[in-house]
Amino acid sequence: MTNPKKAFLTQGLTTEQALKLQEQFGRNELTPQKKQSFIRKVLHTISEPMFLLLLVAAAIYFFLGEPRDGAIMLIFVVGVISIDIVQEWKTDQTLNALKDLSAPHVQVIRDGRLQTIESANLVPGDLMMIAEGVKIPADGVILDANDLCVDESSLTGEAEGVWKVTVGKSEPSSDYWRKDACYAGTLVTQGSAAVQVDKIGAATEYGKIGANVASAPESPTPLQKQTGSLVKTCSIIAVVLFALVCIFTYFDLPDHTFSARIIESILSGITLAMAMIPEEFPVILTVFLSMGAWRLAKRQSLVRKLPSVETLGAVSVLCVDKTGTITMNQMSVQDVWAPAGDTDTLIETMGLACETNAYDPMEKAMIAYCEEKGVGTDHLFGGTLITEYAFTNELKMMGHVWRHDGEILIAAKGSPERILTICTLSDEERKQAENKILELSSQGLRVIAVGIGKPAGEDTIPAAITDCKLTLCGLVGLADPPRESVKEDISRCTKAGIRVVMITGDNGITASSIAKQIGMPNSDRIITGDELNGMSDEELCRRVRDVSIFSRVIPEHKMRIVRAFKENGEIVAMTGDGVNDAPALKYADIGIAMGKRGSEVSREAADLILMDDNFSTIVDTIRDGRRIYDNIRKAVGYVFTIHIPIAFSALLAPFLGISPACLFLLPLHVVLLELIIDPTCSIVLERQPAERNIMERKPRDPNEKILTRGILLKSVMQGFVIFATSFGTYFTFLQQNSENASLARTMGLSILMIANLFLVLVNSSNRDFIFQSIHRLAKDKVMWAILFGTIAGLLLILYSPLNSILKLAPLTIGQFFLVIGISAVSVLWYEAVKGIRSIRRT
Ligand code: ADP
Ligand code: MG
Repeated sequence: MTNPKKAFLTQGLTTEQALKLQEQFGRNELTPQKKQSFIRKVLHTISEPMFLLLLVAAAIYFFLGEPRDGAIMLIFVVGVISIDIVQEWKTDQTLNALKDLSAPHVQVIRDGRLQTIESANLVPGDLMMIAEGVKIPADGVILDANDLCVDESSLTGEAEGVWKVTVGKSEPSSDYWRKDACYAGTLVTQGSAAVQVDKIGAATEYGKIGANVASAPESPTPLQKQTGSLVKTCSIIAVVLFALVCIFTYFDLPDHTFSARIIESILSGITLAMAMIPEEFPVILTVFLSMGAWRLAKRQSLVRKLPSVETLGAVSVLCVDKTGTITMNQMSVQDVWAPAGDTDTLIETMGLACETNAYDPMEKAMIAYCEEKGVGTDHLFGGTLITEYAFTNELKMMGHVWRHDGEILIAAKGSPERILTICTLSDEERKQAENKILELSSQGLRVIAVGIGKPAGEDTIPAAITDCKLTLCGLVGLADPPRESVKEDISRCTKAGIRVVMITGDNGITASSIAKQIGMPNSDRIITGDELNGMSDEELCRRVRDVSIFSRVIPEHKMRIVRAFKENGEIVAMTGDGVNDAPALKYADIGIAMGKRGSEVSREAADLILMDDNFSTIVDTIRDGRRIYDNIRKAVGYVFTIHIPIAFSALLAPFLGISPACLFLLPLHVVLLELIIDPTCSIVLERQPAERNIMERKPRDPNEKILTRGILLKSVMQGFVIFATSFGTYFTFLQQNSENASLARTMGLSILMIANLFLVLVNSSNRDFIFQSIHRLAKDKVMWAILFGTIAGLLLILYSPLNSILKLAPLTIGQFFLVIGISAVSVLWYEAVKGIRSIRRT
């Protein structure tokens, strides 16, 4: 006879069944994903002030006499809007892809196979496997519990963990919260279980309370706030200038008809306003941050919260776990020592003290060592396990009580400090052991002490490990070598003004020895968990200024460590993998969870998930954070620069008494320029590689404004020179031949367009010269595409019939080269500034 429950426990649902059930019950989500419709998106984009202006300008042209101009303008406006919409669509896609990558996952058995699926794809009836560290994604009945303890405080408010039982194994109870069921939103703190899902999504108890359903609206990031106010300021100035220019133009044209005066004045006002509203800023932010996050994800580092990308560049303290992040987490037994030379008993007892299905790298190493010495698992775990003393972070030791080869054995192992307190030793033996501990740990080995006890009968087995009286079998020294790249990474961090702080549960001497091996500064100063307990917060703040190693800490200490650093004004990144690390990860400026080793809970609390658990990846991520921030700055500076010539020509024309038909830039041309400016920003500047000295400067001051005085000065200077050359050329040509305004305008406009290309190359680096930048970017196809695209576009509007429609005139070869020459001069002067700076630096 087949047992249906047993069959289900090995088979689970089939994929087909799961799909059908999903059709019926939907996805396992509290709030279904909303999709913004395409039309909505378009409307949203068009409703921005900039586009409204553009549309008004087009409409004025259209209805007031010049429909052809209006039509062309409209085509350009559609072009600009399309660029915007495509960009927004791309950002959305990127962000969704990122979200999918970091979505919570769960293990299920389907088609008779253990597999990992997205929690959202869980269906009622699924067989889900939960274990320590998992945040339970659905309600279900426990079919098979194994030491399962669950923290249900998010539902019941009860802080104490609840021990769960297999269904049918407990007395039926009238409690609302059942012991043989588990609930979505609660945490597994210990053990494991197989669970049959019965409720998902909003039908779960968690969904019913509506907890978290109204997820917090995304609040603007610090950068968004800054640019928001920047945009506001610029817009206010734009409105004032708009009014001024309108009025001035109106009085400037006394010989025109009333309606012509009105139209011309509005048009010149709009030209100015278009040039002044920095609508690019918000676009730059979202595009740069999301593209940045995407690039990071491709390199093993998953950003869960977009603002973290900006914070990354400001990180000044990096707190990392030693085991697994700094070291390889590949342990091996290097040395064993027994007081009386009886290493056989030591090795066997060590094996008996390990879990029968070891998953901890340290225990795996111990079992492997036993096997190497001829003590196989068959022999070790052949007896019956009577009871066990579980490992806790506070006790730092554990033990098993076996009935083995006819006798009862207590086998215990753990940190030597703790094991020695439960061993009976003479003073001399103790001294001897302590010397050996010191000797092993100064080699950077993790030292584990092993003790044995032989109670007379089952009734004399102590209830707690701390009540045992054991004989010391000896010590085991385990090596966990540092990752190869760590030494270099530490020196990279030191150069970049980032302090690396090591946090470990190991003993101080081991930690200090590892710290020395990897070249951490101040490797001899240590704060232990016990010292930490006795310290006030103020004292801790003082001590963390020069101590970078924390030993024998428990996860709860991490919170205090982060707080102390933050009090000192540092921007803290902190790694963590356990359930108890979650609060510290949330509190740190950048919480980093481990993708491989970490628990689901820690991943959910983190800002960043490290897919390869590798320290080097953290450092690379910080470097990229700095690069992205740099590029945002460069782009914002660029937008300022390039708008100055446009705005000033619009402002100046009426004052110089230039007639409306002869203006340098008509609204049409401003839109044309926008068509070039947008992609330059969001494509070209976004992909700029990092400055060569990016990891040789101090972390950025988090309070520093995105537009520093330096950047503003640079932009204004560059902008004015370009204005002077383009407008100057236009004006000179106009003076010479006031009949041929198109030629004058073409000269000026071409200078603007070509200067734009030079500008990007010059500003691509703050210190490298343009030829170095070109060399660096030579392999980048996109850069070439933009370069040639702009030139081809320019040639097209100059030499095709389009020119008359756009009110432009073809240039002679001589004039064309003159334009190139003037553009080059108008931008390349900045290379001299770089030159002077680099001389001063040396
Ligand atoms: P880390 O933070 O470096 O990973 P842990 O918190 O895992 O350190 O371990 C801290 C200490 O607890 C270890 O140095 C060791 O003394 C003890 N310990 C850890 N795991 C075990 C185990 N499975 N059995 C006995 N002792 C252990
Ligand atoms: Mg550990």
